[in-house]
Amino acid sequence: MVEKSFLTQKYARLKFGPQYSIIGYSMAGEETVIQVPEMNVCFDVGRSPQFCLSSDYMCITHGHMDHVAGIAYYLSQKQFQGMKPGTVFVPEELERPLRRLLDVWRDIERQDTPHTIIPMRPDHLHEIRRDFGIRAVATHHGTGSLGYVLVSIREKLKPEYVTKTGEELAQLRADGVNIQYRVEVPIIAFLGDTSVGPVFEHPDVVNAELLITECTFFDPDHKSRAKAGKHLHVEQLARILPRLKNKHVVICHVSRRTGIRRAKHLLRKTVHEELLANVHFLMDFEQSKAGGDLDEPAAPTPKGQ
Ligand SMILES: [Zn+2]
Ligand SMILES: [Zn+2]
Repeated sequence: MVEKSFLTQKYARLKFGPQYSIIGYSMAGEETVIQVPEMNVCFDVGRSPQFCLSSDYMCITHGHMDHVAGIAYYLSQKQFQGMKPGTVFVPEELERPLRRLLDVWRDIERQDTPHTIIPMRPDHLHEIRRDFGIRAVATHHGTGSLGYVLVSIREKLKPEYVTKTGEELAQLRADGVNIQYRVEVPIIAFLGDTSVGPVFEHPDVVNAELLITECTFFDPDHKSRAKAGKHLHVEQLARILPRLKNKHVVICHVSRRTGIRRAKHLLRKTVHEELLANVHFLMDFEQSKAGGDLDEPAAPTPKGQ
């Protein structure tokens, strides 16, 4: 008798009300990929699991293999499955090496994969639509590391015009008066890998509804590892948390040396309980229920099959 069994990798899904959710996997040094399906965006590609193909915008934080390994596969699979070509945001330092990598893959695969690469620098806002953009923020993980913020862009009526009638406003518009002003609301911030630094004071990071941050190390004797690897230690996170105004904070990129259960325990020991009400670990399956299969887009029959 041959015993048959399925082995499946567990991905986390956290739902934040009806507006958005995150689907992902994140373990330090192994793989980080976090998708916001409702916003058509994925943060880091990891090894390019199937679910990330449904995002057309891919934000790469830095060049470490656990965050970027699957980038060529992501672009190629989107093409193979007849999906929209991917748009990849990268720190500008990575633009050239990424183009070289994709050139080599074109020679290996003997096919051209359509894609767009958008080099980003700190504080640049790339507007995808009139009401939605992605802003890069400088992180502290060596040259060319960026976090990304999903920004909702709204137009509001200037206060001096709020008492005007519709007709008057129409007339003002016709006269070429700018009656509106622009408001940018940070919705989700993802930092990728980072050590402690000014990024945790960036207004978009402090005020985003949801902040997804790494915290790799928790054990007291891992402080030197955190410093050497330019990662966060829980004692640093404990000093950061009181200054944040986010509705939710999600911790990812925990070291396997510690594991989620022990990380949770050490977080509770280090941070005041009040501050932890809205703090979650991405990979904490303890009280989670089975989410079933991911809603894969109904992919058309792949070409060439
Ligand atoms: Zn990493
Ligand atoms: Zn890294």
